[in-house]
Amino acid sequence: MNKFNLNSLIRENILSLDPYVSARTEHHKEKNSIFLDANENSFGSPLSFLNSYNRYPDPLQKELKEKIADFKNVSPSQIFLGNGSDEIIDLVYRIFSRPKVDHAIIFPPTYGMYEVSGKIHEVDVIKIFLTEEYYQLNLDKIEKVLNPNSKIIFICSPNNPTGNDIKREDIEEITKKFTGIVVLDEAYIDFSNKKSLSMEIDKYPNLIILQTLSKSWGLAGLRIGIAIASESIIRWMNKVKYPYNISFLSQKIALKALENRDLFFFHLKNILAEREYIQKSLIKIPIIQKVYPSSANFLLAKINFSSKNLYQYLMRKKIFVRDRSKIILCKNCLRITVGTHEENEYLIDQIRKYSIQKREI
Ligand SMILES: *Cc1c(COP(=O)(O)O)cnc(C)c1O
Repeated sequence: MNKFNLNSLIRENILSLDPYVSARTEHHKEKNSIFLDANENSFGSPLSFLNSYNRYPDPLQKELKEKIADFKNVSPSQIFLGNGSDEIIDLVYRIFSRPKVDHAIIFPPTYGMYEVSGKIHEVDVIKIFLTEEYYQLNLDKIEKVLNPNSKIIFICSPNNPTGNDIKREDIEEITKKFTGIVVLDEAYIDFSNKKSLSMEIDKYPNLIILQTLSKSWGLAGLRIGIAIASESIIRWMNKVKYPYNISFLSQKIALKALENRDLFFFHLKNILAEREYIQKSLIKIPIIQKVYPSSANFLLAKINFSSKNLYQYLMRKKIFVRDRSKIILCKNCLRITVGTHEENEYLIDQIRKYSIQKREI
């Protein structure tokens, strides 16, 4: 990691940007003061029985970052919070890639937003498919496409929709060699028995780790995505983001949830047990060709024939799974999120019934 130079990677318009300074950046936590600086409604909202909604939220989410930092064992200054991980992906494109000049590299089959966000920014997205057998990185091919306009590499581990961990040695090798930014999306890391790379963040100045409160924490409705990276990268993100990107309500509720670690771990344990239950039940059903090993809260299952029919059958039974059959290397695959035990039982039951019908035809 010798040639990495953060400032040389930052787009010129961002380098020279004077960020917007919101009224509350400076006085956010002052107590017993009169706030006439942000054009808020001092009388309150029509919901005035509830406090504080008339005030702008903390733009840098200090309290929430401290809680998250404590849980993740990193420093609060190494954390950025986004309006979902999607905001962070968008910011990474904004900060590090020039439209029509630079490109990003992704490894399909993987999360769709890396490509969509690239297209929105008019940044080319080069695809290097994961290996067919174990959905791992193809290191030789990656090296061949790298050039000075390669700015961002997106790695998703555990990967969506395949569910497997990407080999840690491969991730570290790429991160060491690459002179651009590596985004490692760990949205599902809490479901994996592999360790997060967040402990190594001091070793890799070009690494941005994405996590989220949407999956293991069960807070998808709040829209809170987490980036863990060097202090310098986080500073750039803070400069470019919208001033009040996380609402007051989201910050407040997230703080409350983070206090209840016991329930978090209890749900996590249940999800892992249920994942195993679905896995074991599915492989016994004749129409299921394969269930891929999963380190996430979903399973990818390959059906013996067109998965579309099963998908539609389940929909008629009011069960929604994700048909991934059109995605590269996922032919006839359904992605099934782990539900509650009752939900999973019903799902298995319906797939069994479908399988029996199929045999009788
Ligand atoms: C669900 C998911 C996220 C989380 O997105 P949020 O915007 O934080 O809800 C991020 N990356 C991947 C790969 C996901 O599947």
